[in-house]
Amino acid sequence: MQTYPIPMVPGPVKVPEAVREVYRTDFGSADLESEFLELYQKTEANLKQILGTGNQVVMQSGEGMLGLWSALKSCLRPGDRVLAIATGVFGDGIAEMAGALGAQVRKISLAYNETISDLTAIEKAIVAFQPKMITAVHCETPSGTLNPLAEVGRLKKHHGVPLLYVDAVASAGGTAVRGDAWHIDLCLGGSQKCLSSLPNMAFVAVSDTAWEIIDQVNYMGYDALKPFQKAPAEGYFPYTPYWHGVAGLNAAAELILREGLPASFARHAAVAEYCRTRLTAMGLALFPAPNAVSSPTVTAVQVPGEWSWPEFDARLRRQGLVVGGSYGQLAGRVFRLGHMGTQANMELVKQALDVIERVMGE
Ligand SMILES: *Cc1c(COP(=O)(O)O)cnc(C)c1O
Repeated sequence: MQTYPIPMVPGPVKVPEAVREVYRTDFGSADLESEFLELYQKTEANLKQILGTGNQVVMQSGEGMLGLWSALKSCLRPGDRVLAIATGVFGDGIAEMAGALGAQVRKISLAYNETISDLTAIEKAIVAFQPKMITAVHCETPSGTLNPLAEVGRLKKHHGVPLLYVDAVASAGGTAVRGDAWHIDLCLGGSQKCLSSLPNMAFVAVSDTAWEIIDQVNYMGYDALKPFQKAPAEGYFPYTPYWHGVAGLNAAAELILREGLPASFARHAAVAEYCRTRLTAMGLALFPAPNAVSSPTVTAVQVPGEWSWPEFDARLRRQGLVVGGSYGQLAGRVFRLGHMGTQANMELVKQALDVIERVMGE
C-alpha cells in the first residue's frame, strides 16, 4: 500500500518496532496457558498507572468504540438519566449512543472549539436532573481540545452522582489522566492513540460502584463488562482472549512507562507547543478558541481559506505528509496533526511543519 514517511494522523499512529515484534510470536491458546493470565495481569497493572487508578482494568478485543459502547450498555437501563457534557464530536456521539439505549439524556453543549470552564450550568443540571451517569470526553480529538475534568469529578462526588464516564482514548499515555483523583468510574482507553499499538484493544477502568451497577443491570452480550469482573481471578474469559492484542498493548504500555509518564507528558507538551507556535507563525488559525485548552496530543487547524481540503490534503501527501481531516460539522474545515505516541517526536513534527510551510508557499 501507499505509505507516507511523515505520518501525522491522530490514530491509528505509527506502530513502534517493539510492538510490531510481538505479533511474530505464535502464541498458544490463551484459554489454556497460565502465561496468558500473567500477561493480562501485568498489562492491567501497567494500564492502571497510565489511567491513574487503582480500579480494575478490563481489556476487550476491539478498538476504542467497543469500550465506549460496552460501558454504556453495561451500566444503563432504558429510562436512566444521563447528563452528557458535549464539547465536540465524541461528546455528542456519546449522548446519542446513550439515547439510542433508551436513556433520558440531557446535554450541556459547548461550541466545538471550547472546553469546560464555567461549571455553573453543569452543577445546576446535576442538581435539577439527578443523573445516574455524567459523561465527558477528556481529549476531543476532532477539535484538538482537552477538557479539564478535576472539577467535574469534584461535583460528581459532592452531589453523589453514581457514575462518571470519561472517554480518555486520545489522552491516556500522552497527558495526565487521574482516574481516581477525578472520581472517574468508567475510564476508557484505546490501543491505537498515544499508546501506539494496533487498533485492536479497548480498555476501561471500572470502579467498585460501577461494578455494583453492572451487576444490577446484568447486561449480557458479546460486549458486556460483567463477565470480566471475575475473569482474571478465575481464568475464564467470556470468549477466547486475543493474546497478540494484549501482548501488543502491554509492550506499548511498557515503552511509555519505561520512558516515564512525566517524560512522556513533557514530550507531548513540547511538540504540541512547537506545532502551535509554528502554525500560527505561518498565518494559520488554530481551531480551539483562545480561551480553550489545547490538547498536547493533537492540534486542530483551520483549513486555510484559499484552499479546498481535498486539494490541500493532496499537496501534503505529494510531499510525504499525511494528516487527519475532521468529522461532523468540522469536516472539510479543519485538519489535524496527531502528535501522539510515537508521532510526538520533535524531528517528525518539524518535518511535518516544513511540508505545510512549503505547501502554503505554493
Ligand atoms: C479514537 C477515539 C475513540 C475510539 O475510536 P476508534 O474507533 O477506536 O478509532 C474514541 N474517543 C476518542 C476521543 C477518540 O479519539
